[in-house]
Amino acid sequence: MLTIGCHLSSSKGYLNMAETAVSIGADTFQFFTRNPRGGKAKAIDEEDIRNFHKYSREHGIHTILAHAPYTLNACSADESIREFALNTMTDDLRRMEYTPGQLYNFHPGSHVKQGAERGIELIAELLNRVLYPEMTTTVLLETMAGKGSEVGRSFEEIRSIIDRCELSEKLGVCLDTCHVYDAGYDIVGDLDGVIDEFDRIIGIDRLKAVHINDSKNPFASHKDRHEKIGEGYIGTEAFERVINHPAMRELPFYLETPNELDGYAGEISLLKGLYRH
Ligand code: FE
Ligand code: FE
Ligand code: ZN
Repeated sequence: MLTIGCHLSSSKGYLNMAETAVSIGADTFQFFTRNPRGGKAKAIDEEDIRNFHKYSREHGIHTILAHAPYTLNACSADESIREFALNTMTDDLRRMEYTPGQLYNFHPGSHVKQGAERGIELIAELLNRVLYPEMTTTVLLETMAGKGSEVGRSFEEIRSIIDRCELSEKLGVCLDTCHVYDAGYDIVGDLDGVIDEFDRIIGIDRLKAVHINDSKNPFASHKDRHEKIGEGYIGTEAFERVINHPAMRELPFYLETPNELDGYAGEISLLKGLYRH
């Protein structure tokens, strides 16, 4: 079965997100751990968590993906910004243990004139401080479009970060279809070639989740603007191949398209209809 969901607001808690997911035909969801611009996270409500677990078991909600705030920059030249990234991720990973065995995704960061090499070192340094042996969460590095000085624009950069981490068994990758297409990986014309390259450089076992987004911009434009499924340069036929690809069809897919709930419901039903059984 295709596992698919979308990004949901976490402002009303975990049970509310699971109920919303079910109401739009989703099996999973993504959410921000706190205000996407940063700031303090709401305290965990243990009763909400208990209700969420019960409801999710009953309704088949699984493999939820928490997304770090996108202001988090693990490789900033500014030490106070790196400190914020460290504190935020430490706190997020502690909170994630209330929902054991799930996924936590972050944008590797922007090196801003320091160079990708230095960026990679700083990101790995942060991961080496926040990952711990007893954690049950898998931390995902998101593939980036290569806007500005983003790190993670190539499979090689992602691999270099993973290689520098001591607890690399805690790490995986979230492939964003809009980002990789924007970064210059032709998932429309040569999906098999891109997957083979991912496998060769990173190892396909690291691929744990997919952000499924169309792109407002043509191939390799490094802009990072998401579009609704089928309304951008990637197109419905390419998405049909993505969700059915043997290396991806068992993974959870998360929509981050410019939609309200009814739009997401439509995309979920469209993609479920294209999934081969
Ligand atoms: Fe993201
Ligand atoms: Fe994404
Ligand atoms: Zn994006």
